[in-house]
Amino acid sequence: MAAAAGLHRAEAGDCRAAAVERLRAAAPEGFAIYQAIKDKKFFLGWLSCEEAQLGLPTAVHESVHYITAEIDAFPLVHGGQVKRPHDVSAFFAPSLIAGRFKAGDFVTTYLKPGSASSASDFLYLLDELNAYTHDLNTAVELNRSSGHLEAGAQVDHRDGLAALMAFVALYVERAEQGEPATWSGLREPRVAKAVSELWGRAEQVMTSSCGIPDFGTEDRSLIHQFCEARPQASLRKILGRAPVCPTACLTSTPVAARQNRPFVDMTPTGSIRRN
Ligand SMILES: [Zn+2]
Repeated sequence: MAAAAGLHRAEAGDCRAAAVERLRAAAPEGFAIYQAIKDKKFFLGWLSCEEAQLGLPTAVHESVHYITAEIDAFPLVHGGQVKRPHDVSAFFAPSLIAGRFKAGDFVTTYLKPGSASSASDFLYLLDELNAYTHDLNTAVELNRSSGHLEAGAQVDHRDGLAALMAFVALYVERAEQGEPATWSGLREPRVAKAVSELWGRAEQVMTSSCGIPDFGTEDRSLIHQFCEARPQASLRKILGRAPVCPTACLTSTPVAARQNRPFVDMTPTGSIRRN
């Protein structure tokens, strides 16, 4: 066991410098997260040399959680940050919308009671929305630079953001339909602004990924869910504008079910992995 673990670490060590260099050259927004995190070892610990993208989207995702907890603000894709609106922790539990979704890894991890903090606290659902925005953005940047999906590539990058956008949209819909305290809290200007900033970045990154075929397996049904009239109408009242349904993501060629399970981060949001 010890020898195998040692070998694994040695192998992982081999690609670290090259991975960071690839991030710097191909994915400047992902690299900004690497630059921002003080604990570089935390970032490097998520790299995975066997993966086509070397685990870089995951390393960026987990580092976004780390930085968010440290600075008490969400670092935004395309720069800037937005303070965490702690009042949203008093809103109804996101687990109450779990039944609206087909069972799957994302629902289990982020919405089932007793799993991640996001099941009980909307603040951490927003945290995941932002982490998956950075995650997909990095994957898109890396994909663009390589020009194609490498053989054996882990190509479920769009699923996570599609899931989190669907969760947030249906949460907002439920708030309007039957959770008056949360609904009024969501329309507080500071809260509405934070949700709008995060949603707007998620929308842009999702849309930017639509040109890449085969970048998800569960993404289409989730996008369909948040593009329905009711969640769109509720979102509109929070955003102060019509949400943009990423329709181009709905038309790409279907892909066969993957052997791989989609990436779902197993650390509760906002927490720090201990080795
Ligand atoms: Zn996460």
